[in-house]
Amino acid sequence: MEKLSFTSPVFGPIHSRRLGSSLGINLMPASRKVCNFNCIYCECGWTPDPLQQAETENSLMPGREIVTRDLEEKLHTLAGQGKAPDAITFSGNGEPTLHPDFSGIVEDTVALRNKWSPGTKVCVLSNSANLDKKGVMEGLMMADLRIMKVDSAIEKTLRLINNPGAGYSLERILSRLKRFGGDFTLQTLFFTGTIGGKEVDNTTEEELAAWYDMVNELKPRQVMVYTLDRPTPAPGLKKCPAEKMEVIAKVLKEKGIEVIVAG
Ligand code: SF4
Repeated sequence: MEKLSFTSPVFGPIHSRRLGSSLGINLMPASRKVCNFNCIYCECGWTPDPLQQAETENSLMPGREIVTRDLEEKLHTLAGQGKAPDAITFSGNGEPTLHPDFSGIVEDTVALRNKWSPGTKVCVLSNSANLDKKGVMEGLMMADLRIMKVDSAIEKTLRLINNPGAGYSLERILSRLKRFGGDFTLQTLFFTGTIGGKEVDNTTEEELAAWYDMVNELKPRQVMVYTLDRPTPAPGLKKCPAEKMEVIAKVLKEKGIEVIVAG
């Protein structure tokens, strides 16, 4: 498994399948993943022991001033080269909303974007599991795009895929997502495989029926469906075939929902 390592909280621009040329912001420690999920497909590898995380996570995360300084430097350079990125994206070594200064950093990012790169979108990739934490909804609402992960509408399957931390409730997450009033992108990664001897497949008829119902209920302004692209910590997971992804997208398009497919 390739480990991600960052010399600055600001990295790239890199080419993103979903967002075009994207300048990344990693709010997590430079060489250590911090997340409240432990997805079996996570390209950052397995989440380290949560107890160990609690001791060290905050002190290893970059401070607001460092992020702002590095971002301004980078945006200034890119503006001078005439290479404004399509997006500034909060992603990297884990779940960005776990940073204690998340909303303040998004606020600074929007201000710097307005100053140096007004055509660039500010995006946050989130696992949707932290919406009750103070400042998280506010920070997400300051961004142009909130890309919110829900990998299954059936909690048993979601638990197999994402291994959410203690206290997770899919019903509660969906009620929080409704507070966006549809102003977000719903993101789902489709795949099949086995984990711990159990089959995991979020593309079965039953799964998709529940998932379409969830999309109808949440009414996101956009849906992003994608599949595996890099090595996964759990072995033997399989991509969802492109034809199946197109069928899923077609069902949504017929309902008038905007869909992005990243194969
Ligand atoms: S939510 Fe994202 S960062 Fe966290 S384990 Fe899942 S894929 Fe990895």
